[in-house]
Amino acid sequence: MKANLSQLVKGGAVVAATALLLGACAKQESAPVEAPKPAAVNTERLLAADSEPGNWMAHGRTYSEQRYSPLTQINDDNVADLGLAWHFDLGDTRGIEATPIVVDGVMYVTGGWSKVFALNAKTGAEIWRYDPQIDKAWFVNMCCDAVNRGVAAWDGKIFVGVGDGRLVALDAANGTVQWEVQTTPTDKPYSITGAPRVVDGKVIIGNGGSELGVRGYVTAYDANTGDQVWRFYTVPGDPSKPFENAIHAETVKTWSGEWWTVGGGGTAWDAMAHDPELNLLYIGVGNGAPWNRVYRSDGSGDNLFLSSIVALRPDTGEYVWHYQTTPGESWDYTATQHMILADIELEGRMRKLIMQAPKNGFFYVLDRETGEFISAEKYTMATWATHVDPESGRPVEAPEARYEETGVPTLQFPHPLGGHNWHPMSYSPDTGLVYIPAQEIPVVYGHDSEYDYNPKGWNVGVRFELASAPDDPEVRAQFGQMVKGHIAAWDPVTQTERWRVQHPNMWNGGLLSTAGNVLFQGNAEGEFVAYTADTGEKLWSHFAQTGVVAGPVTYTVDGEQYVAVAAGWGGSFAMVGGELAKRSRGAVSRPRVLVYKLGGEHALPPEPTPEQMAAITPMEPVGDEGTIVAGHKLYMANCHMCHGDRAVSGSSVPDLRKMTADTWELFEPIVLGGMRHENGMVGFADRISRDDANAIYAYLVKRRNDLAAGLD
Ligand code: CA
Repeated sequence: MKANLSQLVKGGAVVAATALLLGACAKQESAPVEAPKPAAVNTERLLAADSEPGNWMAHGRTYSEQRYSPLTQINDDNVADLGLAWHFDLGDTRGIEATPIVVDGVMYVTGGWSKVFALNAKTGAEIWRYDPQIDKAWFVNMCCDAVNRGVAAWDGKIFVGVGDGRLVALDAANGTVQWEVQTTPTDKPYSITGAPRVVDGKVIIGNGGSELGVRGYVTAYDANTGDQVWRFYTVPGDPSKPFENAIHAETVKTWSGEWWTVGGGGTAWDAMAHDPELNLLYIGVGNGAPWNRVYRSDGSGDNLFLSSIVALRPDTGEYVWHYQTTPGESWDYTATQHMILADIELEGRMRKLIMQAPKNGFFYVLDRETGEFISAEKYTMATWATHVDPESGRPVEAPEARYEETGVPTLQFPHPLGGHNWHPMSYSPDTGLVYIPAQEIPVVYGHDSEYDYNPKGWNVGVRFELASAPDDPEVRAQFGQMVKGHIAAWDPVTQTERWRVQHPNMWNGGLLSTAGNVLFQGNAEGEFVAYTADTGEKLWSHFAQTGVVAGPVTYTVDGEQYVAVAAGWGGSFAMVGGELAKRSRGAVSRPRVLVYKLGGEHALPPEPTPEQMAAITPMEPVGDEGTIVAGHKLYMANCHMCHGDRAVSGSSVPDLRKMTADTWELFEPIVLGGMRHENGMVGFADRISRDDANAIYAYLVKRRNDLAAGLD
C-alpha cells in the first residue's frame, strides 16, 4: 500500500529522482537544471507521508494529526547526545505558538504578528520573510496575544492566517503575495491565530473572537485563486433570515432569545483533522458568546454547535455529524482543542476513532465515521461535572456549576484556560498512549447581574473580579499551589492515566513522540526535554532561556535527523496569569526557533544580565476604598486580559505598577485617547468613562504602593 502510494508521489521523491536523471541528461545538452519546486505538497504526497518521514508537510505531520514521527535516528539510546544545531531569532516580543512546516529542506515558521519566515532547515539561514503589517491597534481584538500557530504548504504556496482576519497565499520560493482575502468582517472583533489546513486544493481557515462577541465559522478557499468555495457557520444566525447552512434549521431549536445580536460564539480557532478515506473534515468548535448562557440563550438549550466536534464534507462544507462535549456551555469550555485520528482495537474490534481532550477536563473517544460516543473520563481536575453518562454521552453537571442560575459564585476546575488548551498532544501507535499537556487551574465563576452587551469589549457576563487571585498573601499562596501542569500519558482504550510527568507550573509545551521511543516537550520553565515515550523517564534537556509552549517537530536533511521547536513565552496564560505566569523560570520573551541534532555544538548567546530596575517609589494614594474596589473590577473587565491579573504582568506587556512618572502623567491621553495605539494600546474612550479611568488609576496606584511596600 505504502509502496504503491509512494509510486504515485508526484511532487516528492519520485520527482526529485526524475529531476536528477533529467539533470544528468541536461548536463550533456548544457541546458539549465531546474531546481525542485519549493513546498511541492499535494494530496498524494500527504497520503504517503510515512514513506517520506524526513518531511513535516502538514500541521500535525499527517492529516490524522498524530504528531508522531517514524524517524529513529535519534532514539532513547542516544538522545542524551542531542545538541543545538542552530537557532534563529524570530524578533518581536509576542508569544510563539507555531508548529514549523518542513518540506524538502526548507522550514516555514511564524512569529508574532503573523510574520512568516522561510529558513534553510539544515543551517537556519534565512531564505525570505513576510510581514503582513497588521495594524497593532487590532491587538485589542485578539483575546490571547498576537500569536500564530503556523502555516500550511501546498503546490508551491505557503498560506498564513493573519491576526486581523486575512488569509494570505505566498510564493514558497520568495515570500511574495500571490493572493490575499479578508475572511472576516472588519467591523467586528474577529481574529485568526490558527494554522490553515489544505484539503484537495482548498485552504480551510477558521477564526477567533467569541470572548468579544462574534459568530464562528470556517471557510474554504481555492488554493490557486483565493476564491471562496464554501463557508460553514457553527451556530445559527438570525432565524428571520434564510439559514446559510441547511443544518441550522435543526440547530436553531437548541437556542433561545436573540443570540445573534450578541454573536453567539462557536469560533473554530484551532484544531482540524481530515480523514481522506471517509471524506470527512473535523472542526473543533469554541465557546459561546457571551460565556454566560443567561445572556446568550435565555439560560436554556444546548446551543449547537458550541463546544462540539463537527464533521463536514471537505469538498462542500456540508454537515455530516456532530458531538457536543459541553451542552449549554457557560464556562468558556471550548472544543477547539487538538483532535487526533487513530485506528485502535476496542473490545476485539478495530475502530476508526477521533480523540480529544477539550478544555472541560474530559478525554473523549468517538467513532469518527458516525460521531458515536464511545467513552469519556477526566484526564485532569474537573469539578463542573461528575461524569459523562455512558448511554447518552451527556455530562452530568454538578449542581453548583450553573453559577448563572444559582447566583452563587462557585470555585471550579477547570478554569477558562482549560484542563488542556491549544498545546498539541501526540499519539504514539507504538505505546498506544496519547500524551496530553494537561493543566490544573481553578477559577471562581460568578453571575454578573449588571452585564450589558458591549460591542467594543469583552462579553462574558461573568464577574471577572472574582477570578482574580486573592489579595491575602497566604490564601494566594495556597491558591498558587493548586495551579500546576503535567504530561498525562493517557491510555485511550482503558481511559486511564498510565503515568504522568509533573511540572511545577501550567502552560507547558506541545508534544512530539517518535518511533525512537522518545517524547519531546518544552515547558514553562524554559527547558526543552526528551523523555522515554513508554515510561516518561527524563533523558535529556536543554535550557531555551524562554518558556516553550509550541509543539515540536522532527525531520531530516541529507540523511541527518533534526528536532525543532519554536520557543517564546506568551499567549493567553502569560497575558492574564499575573503572578502565576510570572513565577515560572521561562517567563521571559525570547522568540526563537531552536533546532537540535546528535552532536550539535551550537551555543545560544549568553543570557543578558537583568537590568537593575530602579526601586519602585510609592505614590500619593488616590481615591477611597470604594473607588479602589470599583477600579479593580473595571481593571479586570477591561485591562487584565493583556496587563495581567492584579496588574502583575507575566508577559512582555508593560507591568502597570512600574509605570514611569511620564506614563502616569499621560494616563488619560493613553487610556482614553489612544496615544500609544501604535504599540497596541488603543484608546478606551468608547468603552469606559473618565470616572472609570480614574478608578482604574486609583487601583493601579494602590497596586504600585503594594509593590513599593514589598507586597507582590
Ligand atoms: Ca474562549
